[in-house]
Amino acid sequence: MLLQLENLPAQGSEFDVVVIGAGGAGLAAALFAGLAGQKVLLVEHSEYVGGTTALSGGTTWIPSTLHSARVNPQDTLAEAARYLDNAIGERADPALRQAFLQAGPAAVAALEAATEVKFRPYPKHPDYISDLPGSTLNGRALEPLPFDGRLLGELFAVLRPPIPEFTVLGGMMVDRTDINHLLKLKSSLPSFRHSLKLLLRHASDRLSYPRAPGW
Ligand SMILES: Cc1cc2nc3c(=O)[nH]c(=O)nc-3n(C[C@H](O)[C@H](O)[C@H](O)COP(=O)(O)OP(=O)(O)OC[C@H]3O[C@@H](n4cnc5c(N)ncnc54)[C@H](O)[C@@H]3O)c2cc1C
Repeated sequence: MLLQLENLPAQGSEFDVVVIGAGGAGLAAALFAGLAGQKVLLVEHSEYVGGTTALSGGTTWIPSTLHSARVNPQDTLAEAARYLDNAIGERADPALRQAFLQAGPAAVAALEAATEVKFRPYPKHPDYISDLPGSTLNGRALEPLPFDGRLLGELFAVLRPPIPEFTVLGGMMVDRTDINHLLKLKSSLPSFRHSLKLLLRHASDRLSYPRAPGW
């Protein structure tokens, strides 16, 4: 972020942790350091926070969370490790992916307990290389729940806008549930109701905000 001069840390300020880049990885690192009581400086060189992450679909691949257990209770960390071993092979240190697998479920649980970040499992979301041994049809890919951008207050203005391809009607953010309802708008009463609510909320948001806060 191009910090205004008055927002720059005072000369001689000290921090426990300095994070470079406010995308998903940097924001998560800064957040967890903050939750652990560290004094954090987050440095971003563009005018927005969010990086490529803000342009993405937001799907988060973390096996063996509580969410995974809801849709695929048969899945295990050992199976996920088998999948990653087959997908990655010798191209990276196996200890790194073991650390990722071991820490992932607790990281998701901590994030959900202490912040506004919440997830749900996709009922159907196969692993990308679905013919590899250890792959699953669901449970590992998590979808972030819609977040009310208004909670960010003035900081909403520095959140990188989504790409037009992921919005409809000039900026309305939709998730897979919304898309399914919009497609059945004319043939199902519940879908009509859902779509109407979505459209009215978007219209009302656009009267107050230059872009939809996407919740
Ligand atoms: C259309 C699209 C859809 C996608 N969908 C998914 C998906 O559903 N699931 C998934 O897992 N992945 C998806 N991806 C990929 C995913 O978005 C990226 O892998 C991920 O966002 C990378 O996160 P990051 O934090 O490493 O980098 P970024 O989110 O790009 O953040 C890096 C940040 O660092 C800043 N920066 C860079 N250099 C400096 C510097 N020298 N000083 C200060 N700041 C600096 C940048 O400005 C940026 O803000 C998608 C990508 C795209 C483009």
